Amino acid sequence: MDKGKAEARIKDLREKINYHNKQYYVYDNPVISDAEYDKLMRELESLEREFPEFVTPDSPTQRVGGEPLPAFRQVTHRVPMMSLADAFDEGELKDFHRRVTEAVGQDVEYVVELKIDGLAISLTYENGLLITAATRGDGVVGEDVTQNIKTIKSVPLRLDFPEDKKPSIIEVRGEVYLPKEGFRKLNEEREDMELPLFANPRNAAAGSLRQLDPKITASRPLSTFMYALGHVEGVEFTKHIEVLEFYKTCGFRVNPDIVLFKNFNDVMDYCMSWREKRDTLPYEIDGIVIKVNSLEQQRILGFTAKSPRWAIAYKFPAEQKTTVINDIIVRV
Ligand code: NAD
Repeated sequence: MDKGKAEARIKDLREKINYHNKQYYVYDNPVISDAEYDKLMRELESLEREFPEFVTPDSPTQRVGGEPLPAFRQVTHRVPMMSLADAFDEGELKDFHRRVTEAVGQDVEYVVELKIDGLAISLTYENGLLITAATRGDGVVGEDVTQNIKTIKSVPLRLDFPEDKKPSIIEVRGEVYLPKEGFRKLNEEREDMELPLFANPRNAAAGSLRQLDPKITASRPLSTFMYALGHVEGVEFTKHIEVLEFYKTCGFRVNPDIVLFKNFNDVMDYCMSWREKRDTLPYEIDGIVIKVNSLEQQRILGFTAKSPRWAIAYKFPAEQKTTVINDIIVRV
């Protein structure tokens, strides 16, 4: 493609992606499938790689999520909430492992987790007490949903600290999601009331949490899995798996299918095994997340503008089924 054509296509793709980001992140109301969205994003990434002179800081390839809704009080995250780089096949997974081992120059252990299809949340506890809950927003500033989060039973309001680990401040991060059964019932009720249906459990979870009236959130069977650490004071961790063990002790829900691997071939086998098994879960997953276990190695690897270099999301191939989103029929 010549330079002029590439520039025009990049502009066109950015406009399209920005529009879909707003529908998805701000209004919880996507109009295309995730697979179609991922295709647009991949095309933009590849053109920007070929023509780096057109990369701008406001390109959707450089930014996380969407603007926070002004109706909510805004919360600035102490540590940014980032996105994840994607891998769509075994070749891209192997490239990730190669980049990681080259950068750290040592053996690497990986923690492998299900990628829960909900929305990210950051919970700040001061001396064990829940103070603030915020959505990811644009990664730097999120929405204050503290009152809504307090209606979710799996979120502890006060933490059970072990004797040897009592952080004065801790930002506990994870996913709020709606189980498949809750999603089915919610859409049935909405159909009876002639209200627009939610496109999928992810958007239903986001729409249920980002409510100005916490009573509405309380009426939805939302649940949580916690899987990441933001800012922490008063405690040192050296491994990601240690953080997850600590979360369990504190009273959080941590996904039972998280596994620690020393060998990358086992990581890949585990990813592939979930392609078939994913439908057996009572909640939706859209992939598998692979994270470097050592926090020191994570520090060496660092971040791009948008995502950590020490983690990757293996995305499952799109399922061939037909879905109706806002009266538009799409193949996903
Ligand atoms: P992402 O969803 O691919 O990955 C990051 C997110 O994964 C985190 O914010 C977190 O919420 C989630 N996650 C779930 N389990 C996790 C775990 N165990 N560890 C860490 N994170 C975990 O990235 P994104 O930037 O949030 O969104 C991009 C994706 O959203 C696209 O690939 C597309 O699928 C979808 N999207 C769709 C549309 C649309 O119009 N259909 C628009 C925008 C985005």
